[in-house]
Amino acid sequence: MPLPESETIALRRDPLLPPEPCPVRWRRSARAQNVWLHICPAEGAVVVTLPQRVGRNQGLALLTEHAGWVMQRLAALAPERPLTPGSSVPLGGVEHPIRHDPGRRGGAFLEGGAIVATGQAEFVPRRVRDFLRAEALRRIWASARPHAEALGVAPRAIRLKDTKSRWGSCAPDRTLAFSWRLVMAPGWVLDYVVAHELAHLREMNHSPRFWALVEARTPHRKAATQWLRRHGPSLLRVG
Ligand SMILES: [Zn+2]
Repeated sequence: MPLPESETIALRRDPLLPPEPCPVRWRRSARAQNVWLHICPAEGAVVVTLPQRVGRNQGLALLTEHAGWVMQRLAALAPERPLTPGSSVPLGGVEHPIRHDPGRRGGAFLEGGAIVATGQAEFVPRRVRDFLRAEALRRIWASARPHAEALGVAPRAIRLKDTKSRWGSCAPDRTLAFSWRLVMAPGWVLDYVVAHELAHLREMNHSPRFWALVEARTPHRKAATQWLRRHGPSLLRVG
């Protein structure tokens, strides 16, 4: 039987409790040595990685064995936050309510501490997301310019991605990529990620020389790393 891509299975977190639905995504890996489980905050699912020639049953056995851990971790995920009117979204670390003003034009924009989305209600989430992405690019560039000048480097391009595990990356062709979700983090966190990737244009490694460059540009890097570890997963639950 072919492996389904994802499914919902019934798991008991405790043998005495009734089974609860658990979203599962199956992943086949040629490099994996063992069956392993991890929680994906963006999907709100447990991902089961199976080596070649290992069947779904072995994955199910591991899931059942660790059902308590899996269900507890899934329950602890921040709730999903849709970009709909009446909800709010952090921008630069500050919550901004989302308002819908169907009578106006101009996509979505900032007004009086709120994000105002215009047009039809069904397009509000997309408009807010487009606004956040545009704002992300604007803020990343604003942060990048002084660091690039101080480091004496110039990125070839800056692109936005929706990566689940990396906030920024630097390609050998000097293109930098950042998660658009960084726009939701406080400005000093975004600033650290930008300085980190720009410093890779001088040092394509994580050597002491590289860290000295980053440290000189962003003395708050440790706090920023901690912030991302602690709050990063909840940013993956937005939109
Ligand atoms: Zn790096």
